[in-house]
Amino acid sequence: MIAGEKIEVDALVVGSGIAGLQAALDMADQGFSVAIVEKSPSIGGKMISLSKVFPTLDCASCITTPRMASVSHHPRIQAFTYSVVDGIKREGKTFTAAVTRKPRYVDEKECISCKRCEEVCPVCLPDEFEMGLGVKKTISIPFTNAIPQFPVMYPEHCIRCGACARVCPKDCIDFLQEPSPLEIKARAVILATGYETTPMTAKKQYGLGNLPNVLAPMAAERLLAPHGPYGRVLRPSDGKVPDSVAYVQCAGSRDKSIGVPYCSRVCCMYAIKQATLLTGSLPTADITIYYMDIRAFGKGYEQFYNNAKAMGISFVKAKVARVTEDAGHNPIVRIERQEGTSAPEEVKHDLVVLSQGLIPGCDVSSFHLGAELNDFGFVKLSDENISSAVTAGAGVFAAGVVKGPRDIPDSVVDAGSAAIEAANYIRKL
Ligand SMILES: Cc1cc2nc3c(=O)[nH]c(=O)nc-3n(C[C@H](O)[C@H](O)[C@H](O)COP(=O)(O)OP(=O)(O)OC[C@H]3O[C@@H](n4cnc5c(N)ncnc54)[C@H](O)[C@@H]3O)c2cc1C
Repeated sequence: MIAGEKIEVDALVVGSGIAGLQAALDMADQGFSVAIVEKSPSIGGKMISLSKVFPTLDCASCITTPRMASVSHHPRIQAFTYSVVDGIKREGKTFTAAVTRKPRYVDEKECISCKRCEEVCPVCLPDEFEMGLGVKKTISIPFTNAIPQFPVMYPEHCIRCGACARVCPKDCIDFLQEPSPLEIKARAVILATGYETTPMTAKKQYGLGNLPNVLAPMAAERLLAPHGPYGRVLRPSDGKVPDSVAYVQCAGSRDKSIGVPYCSRVCCMYAIKQATLLTGSLPTADITIYYMDIRAFGKGYEQFYNNAKAMGISFVKAKVARVTEDAGHNPIVRIERQEGTSAPEEVKHDLVVLSQGLIPGCDVSSFHLGAELNDFGFVKLSDENISSAVTAGAGVFAAGVVKGPRDIPDSVVDAGSAAIEAANYIRKL
């Protein structure tokens, strides 16, 4: 590693999803200096990948992008993307975070984001932003509205043809770039490391990863996004316009056998949202949601659910045992109805989406900050009746799904609360 940079700020925010972005902005707008560290090449978290948001069906990126831009242009915020927090030490009243800045193999000071390297690169790889439904070049800007707009090169796929270096007008491709250390001293830490969806490795019978037309919910978000991988809703195996789409609820939640006995709160609503959007993209398709019970917990959510029923989306109270496929890659869902007949049935669909639950996005106990975790790895609050952000670690606050599954409005409210608590804490030091 080369010699590193050192900075000092009032607050360190770890994670730049909607909670981290909002917390950073709320701190900076109160006059505090902030460093926000994000492990992905762009800020924005999960929300920037979503199509629209329930229950208003507003465009998700239209809400996220202005916040991303405000963070990147704010005079009191320094954003470090493609950077991993290795550890945070408390020394008296100061925290010292050791961060590793991963190499993009592009000189960020020189790059003008012209994309010429991306255009000439001859190697494609699955695009993780499109959940593997599309491809990207081995050197590419992560997605259209990524911030910052610098490309990343993935050396494990690069064939060292040198085409990108030859075409770069600023001579900023650097194959020899190495990880560089960054030390951040801060007076308060806001944890906003969000979530991942429940892995389906222990639920192989649902077919995710093996059956091409069984999708993760984030992949369905990308299919529905206006600038998604295909520009319209098509099924991955053969590009067919689906006539019948099914959602399997609680796939990876409320399931003790996989260690996720809790309800992930947002899955009913995102499935209803996606189903509602599908009625617009595929007006003649049959859309079915297999559910145990619908939890429409927020403002306007019950109405949203009732609207979906009125639009003809079929809600079938049934447990799903497994998903298989026929020779044409049509998924076959084996269900056991919870009302009426109890004989198992097999129902064929063109496309199946698993409503995966939410698990912690990061093991924050590895930071050794004194913040306690609950049995499932989410950050515990000191007393949730008093504050929705204060943890057991002095000077350590939490915002968003790092505390447990919640939706975007709750994550934004949390972020405001974390910023106020952190500001009060710093003022009293
Ligand atoms: C399919 C789906 C659809 C959804 N649709 C909606 C909807 O329509 N409306 C709604 O209200 N909610 C919806 N949600 C829920 C919504 O996505 C979350 O409420 C919200 O995105 C949470 O934001 P967050 O900032 O807490 O977490 P995240 O968006 O997960 O952000 C956390 C960030 O922290 C980063 N990070 C993690 N660990 C580290 C580390 N060690 N160092 C640095 N960075 C790190 C991650 O890379 C990530 O960028 C949906 C969820 C799913 C799964």
